[in-house]
Amino acid sequence: MPAGRRPGKVYLVGAGPGDPDLITVRGRDLLSRADVVIHDALVSPALLRAARADVERIDAGKKPGARRDTQSAVNRMMIARARSGRRVVRLKGGDPCLFGRAGEEAEALARAGVPFEVVPGVTAALGAAAAAGIPLTHRRLASSVVLATGHEDPAKPPGSIDWKALVGAGTLVLYMGVKRLEGIVSRLLAAGLDPGTPVALVRWATRPDQQVVTAPLRTIAVRARLAGIRPPAVLIAGRVVRLRRRLDWAGRRPLSGRTIVVTRAKDQARFLSDLLKEDGARVLEAPAIRLAPPLSWAPLDAALRRLETYRLIIFTSANGVERFFARLPEKGIDVRDLKGIEIVAIGPATAAAVTTRGLRVAAVPAEYRAEGILKTLRAMEVGRVLIPRAAAARDVLPRVLRERGAPVDVVPVYRALPAREGMKEVSAALR
Ligand code: SAH
Repeated sequence: MPAGRRPGKVYLVGAGPGDPDLITVRGRDLLSRADVVIHDALVSPALLRAARADVERIDAGKKPGARRDTQSAVNRMMIARARSGRRVVRLKGGDPCLFGRAGEEAEALARAGVPFEVVPGVTAALGAAAAAGIPLTHRRLASSVVLATGHEDPAKPPGSIDWKALVGAGTLVLYMGVKRLEGIVSRLLAAGLDPGTPVALVRWATRPDQQVVTAPLRTIAVRARLAGIRPPAVLIAGRVVRLRRRLDWAGRRPLSGRTIVVTRAKDQARFLSDLLKEDGARVLEAPAIRLAPPLSWAPLDAALRRLETYRLIIFTSANGVERFFARLPEKGIDVRDLKGIEIVAIGPATAAAVTTRGLRVAAVPAEYRAEGILKTLRAMEVGRVLIPRAAAARDVLPRVLRERGAPVDVVPVYRALPAREGMKEVSAALR
């Protein structure tokens, strides 16, 4: 380790069940400061975007069959990187230690003398129960819950799951069982679980594409096959499953089951995306454009040099406002130099961008487009006009103003370039 540098450390962090917002505050904070992120296949790509842009990102998604090798490779990677002084986040779906092998990873770190910390996560059972509207315990229906795996370690002798003990619980949650659902159902029946026990299978819990199938134990395997339930899913068995009929809050949201693509520029998409998510939609952000500075600032700078000749500035987007005002201090101009110039904004968001700078907007048209502005201006006396806007935009506003005899300077303050970010997710969703 180079002198003076802090020793590295490994954080075994639970990513939560699927919804990227269900990681803990501590987990997200560590993720945003990590030098290295080693993650599992089940961890959401949206969550990984919380990491720094220059983070070293390692996908340790394990392929069945290659488990043992991969596990020791992961251990070696963590140890080597921590020893070189780096902050390693080992990000695992759900809780890192519940069927997640973080216990084994922690053992390897302890053996190697590498400091580590465990940050818990919302495990799939809890995520699935909450999102499917199934309280795992209930004063009248279940006073205990068991979390178990339906998938035995191939290295262990078969029959190491104590099925009798499992069916004794008020509620049973099984992880990793979907592929062998028929076998699991017969074990549960043989162990004495009532064939009429209500069962829910929850796939991709807490994600917008969550799927839930419910049926009595005796028919759940058939129902799951018909519904095409594949991993990852958890099985919840017990009387509490009946409560879902009344408590399914997620499935009742107006946009639940819908996928909506938001194409706004990256730093503007959030507001709309949040509203849509709130109503249950799965939102894919795929900005159609990204903003860049204009090819040249010369036209704006020339306009700023004769600022006092303008009677009116028309802003046609909040972006235009932002970029116009960002240029002023660079040219030694103060907002007070805008005194005597009226400002018109194309719509409320653009107007808000102006007023937050302490400036009054003379008018906002009833109709938020160039034609609306023209109607509004009919009542105003228009002298020389400055329009700071995107490099490529419609011609109608300057053209009509000029026809009415007003000198108009249109200056580019940004360019909208095509963007491709998020397209991978959109095409996957379309498929
Ligand atoms: N450490 C994880 C579990 C890893 S084992 C946790 O605490 O949740 C992998 C199993 O977890 C899957 O086979 C599935 O049974 C369950 N699982 C993980 N994420 C899930 C999700 N979003 N929806 C349903 N089941 C999930």
